[in-house]
Amino acid sequence: MTFGAVPDHRPASTAHTAGARIAVADLGMEYATPTGLVRALDDVTLTVEPGASLAIVGPSGCGKSTLLGLLGGLEVPTAGEVRIGNEVISAMPDQERAALRRRAFGFVFQADNLQPFLTVSENVGLQAVLAGLADEPAERQALLDALDVGSLGHRFPDQLSGGQRQRVAVARALIHGPSLVVADEPTGSLDAASSDKVVELLLQMHKANGTTLVIVTHDRAVAERMEAVVEMRDGHVNGTRATRS
Ligand code: ADP
Repeated sequence: MTFGAVPDHRPASTAHTAGARIAVADLGMEYATPTGLVRALDDVTLTVEPGASLAIVGPSGCGKSTLLGLLGGLEVPTAGEVRIGNEVISAMPDQERAALRRRAFGFVFQADNLQPFLTVSENVGLQAVLAGLADEPAERQALLDALDVGSLGHRFPDQLSGGQRQRVAVARALIHGPSLVVADEPTGSLDAASSDKVVELLLQMHKANGTTLVIVTHDRAVAERMEAVVEMRDGHVNGTRATRS
């Protein structure tokens, strides 16, 4: 499958944003539940170089989503630290972490989480504004074009197929030129063709913009397309290996 050249759609204020380096040390996460503490992560240490791509794999319940949520600053750990670039995001006040997330990170989830009452174009534009950038309709359009959904900007999310929605979610994750994109099972609900396309586009953007990409997936073929794979088990990192990608 081939795609047209990806334009450098990044707004001038964020163009050439370098990929973020991730350094995680002795990370632990416990959840309080009515039946006691659940240890989701235990003593995880991990480094991802700027501009690298990484897959996190392992059986259900081993802590993949928890780790991704901590890398993306969606949650704070109960032990250890998460450093993204020069910032220890696990020690930041909530508001500061939220601002960093909006400005510098992009998220793609299995459920696309698009705003149902905004059009495709508005959904993408909203992310630019939340990131503190001027909304540039031409940039929005160029990115949607590159993702092959350029003619769908005026539609609402429920007027799209699952694969189209997920491509719009990718556009929203990339519009502000993030230094880190985290994706949690982004192809989980897609057929093989749409899944291929979404992964291809994430990788293409990652390479074109030098974005650091971390993806949780149960699909081994998707994992092998990243540069490295982290295998998790029972809240631990079992091993990290380079792929041939
Ligand atoms: P995976 O993504 O590998 O399926 P998760 O990170 O979602 O695993 O979950 C790891 C463990 O933490 C599981 O035992 C899960 O039930 C538990 N867990 C995750 N989130 C919560 C939460 N918000 N509250 C309580 N337990 C949770």
